[in-house]
Amino acid sequence: MLVVMKAHATPEQIQAVCAAIEQMGFRAHPIPGAQRTAIGITGNNGAVEQERFETLSGVSEVIRVSKAYKLASRDVKQEDTVIHFPRTGSCPEATIGGRDLAIIAGPCSIESREQAFAIAEQVATNGALFFRGGAYKPRTSPYSFQGLGVEGLRIMAEIRDRFGLRIVTEALDNESLDHVNEWADVIQIGARNMQNFSLLKRAGKLRKPVLLKRGLSATLEEFLMSAEYVMSEGNYEVILCERGVRTFADHTRNTLDLSIIPSVQALSHLPILVDPSHGTGKRDAILPMSRAGVAAGADGLLVEVHHQPDKALSDGPQAIYPEQFARLMYEIGQIAPIVGRTLARGIHVAEPTV
Ligand code: PEP
Ligand code: MN
Repeated sequence: MLVVMKAHATPEQIQAVCAAIEQMGFRAHPIPGAQRTAIGITGNNGAVEQERFETLSGVSEVIRVSKAYKLASRDVKQEDTVIHFPRTGSCPEATIGGRDLAIIAGPCSIESREQAFAIAEQVATNGALFFRGGAYKPRTSPYSFQGLGVEGLRIMAEIRDRFGLRIVTEALDNESLDHVNEWADVIQIGARNMQNFSLLKRAGKLRKPVLLKRGLSATLEEFLMSAEYVMSEGNYEVILCERGVRTFADHTRNTLDLSIIPSVQALSHLPILVDPSHGTGKRDAILPMSRAGVAAGADGLLVEVHHQPDKALSDGPQAIYPEQFARLMYEIGQIAPIVGRTLARGIHVAEPTV
């Protein structure tokens, strides 16, 4: 159920409707929009008496949301969600989901301070505003490198100060979630955890944006339901990320499902990024699929970059070289205006020579 407030409803009227919802034992989710505020009602197992709300002052209408996901749906909010990162310390203002494409780049894993700094410098120079590196790694083998943990987070915090890059990193479980929440700007929930509902709920109690990657075989509805888990706890800043799904095709690591972008955008107001690195697993496929992702309307990219991919402790074959990242930024900057987008810093990047 959704209570749609009138365009000029006052904060007091919105507050009074929320209080009435909570008094009935439900949870109220006021979601401000450009035209009006809508208040989602969750926690009800059956129908809520519509009339109870229609008569409250400032209420325009009460709508039943038929879809399984509610807060993630466009019924609640017609316009796109834009996540704002205000200017802080050395970091310039940034957004995810607005006109400006969000480019998140960095190594799969933080391996050492030297490695992370070398890559971060390239990422910053070429115009990205977000740095992503793994400190807690979900590896298929327990014998593979598992990440540096808190030490990796500390290195990334230094990178934020030094290069003005916002930090995105994955939380694997409750313990790492607490650490990531303390150090990072965006909490990544990986594909393998997309349906770890207790972790999603815990992330929903935090007040930091959550980058949610699509599960290895998740349908669109399952993906949006996972976003709903986070939002149902009051954290509305969810960023979706298409990272490829398992199919019969074996020429790439996964099959990057770009068609999910317009489908998500038709149903949900949440931003959606594309990760061509895990989506293909192949260095040479990253640039073409990045172009395609932006052309398809993605709100940005998540790309793995490494200065010495042959020595990488994880995902070396899909990491692009810094020079390739420079070309990617240049080309994306060229495509951006065609699809009504900008690149905050990258648009000024000169054409690379490779
Ligand atoms: C990653 O981003 O490094 C990662 C492990 O991604 P995914 O969860 O999509 O496999
Ligand atoms: Mn990786």
